[in-house]
Amino acid sequence: MRRVFTGGPVFAGDGKILENVQVVVEDDHILNILDAGAPVPQDAEVIPLDGNFLLPGLIDCHVHLCMDAGPDPIGALSREPVPLTTLKAAELARKTLLGGVTTVRDMGGLAGVDLVLRDAIAAGRIPGPKVLASGRLICMTGGHGWQIGRQADGEAEVMRAAREQILAGADLVKFMATGGVMTPGVEPGSEQFTEAELRAGIREAHKAGKRTATHAQGTQGIKNALRAGIDSIEHGIYLDVESIELMLQRSVPLVPTMSALFHIEKNGVQAGIPEFAVAKSLRVKPFFLESLTMAREAGVVIAMGTDAGTPFNCHGGNAEELVFMTRAGFTASEALVAATKTAAGVLGLEQEIGTIEAGKRADLLVIQGDPLQDIQLLCDQEKISMILQDGRVVKDLRS
Ligand SMILES: [Zn+2]
Repeated sequence: MRRVFTGGPVFAGDGKILENVQVVVEDDHILNILDAGAPVPQDAEVIPLDGNFLLPGLIDCHVHLCMDAGPDPIGALSREPVPLTTLKAAELARKTLLGGVTTVRDMGGLAGVDLVLRDAIAAGRIPGPKVLASGRLICMTGGHGWQIGRQADGEAEVMRAAREQILAGADLVKFMATGGVMTPGVEPGSEQFTEAELRAGIREAHKAGKRTATHAQGTQGIKNALRAGIDSIEHGIYLDVESIELMLQRSVPLVPTMSALFHIEKNGVQAGIPEFAVAKSLRVKPFFLESLTMAREAGVVIAMGTDAGTPFNCHGGNAEELVFMTRAGFTASEALVAATKTAAGVLGLEQEIGTIEAGKRADLLVIQGDPLQDIQLLCDQEKISMILQDGRVVKDLRS
């Protein structure tokens, strides 16, 4: 089966715009990109772009498919029966895909639901994005996310906790280096795991060929994680010159997840969000914005992630993160690169996805209009006229 997208423009994922080309898709991959004048391959379905944009499917480096974006999702998740979580997660995965997100990294599930979901999607049983899953997040006793996490203390226990996630089939291992917003009684700025504990867990993941990520908001925790060899920093609220220097030296990316804070701020206690979470969000926001600007200006690699599943941070609305990024000083093109080529690199999938070039998997979106002029277009599902995943048509407004 061949499909040819003709004309352009094509946002290639690396920031380049291709005009007057033919993007040839064969089965599950992009076969090649031809000049507009080249003969159209035989037996191909021709899809004229007519000024609509072709871009790579979006990649979200930080979601929680087990969390439903209700006002208190961690509380709800820790109380609801696992079969219900499983059914809801399947529905949330479908919504994510219809939001134009073809790959996600799940950053903390429960009872293996994230792992089973990943496998069910990969086997074609249910629709959803390709999922890389962390299994359970690993935190200290009473640390951020303890309600759903694997609590562990001391190097030996953190090692064991990491090994458990790998045994269960996790694609990566996530450690909580600091407190956070959504857990009562912990402070976002406070250090949690020690550098030695982080190093012990990270070593286990790396021995098994798995990457690691850390929830890290406070300065000391961020530095502990960086010195311990972490592969990505999530949130990074209180960055300083030294932590940015460490990120640059070690090429460690930042996944800011602006959506998490902004949706809490927008909806507030009147929507049922716990008061402690609203208060902490408002308190950390100015530091977060300053850190993000410092990181961007210093040249830290920044990849798109939403923390979808946190309060009112809805699965399927992931593209709103790009709007928040442009409001924080990114160009639309930079935000899109963060959600395609850069995100693919953070996931270690840069050979497979993230750009439109020969040999890549055909994860593609057709957007009505120019998202570089108006990034909001990506948030309007009526404007996403086609979604291809591995070359299969998931959505086609033409039909
Ligand atoms: Zn998260």
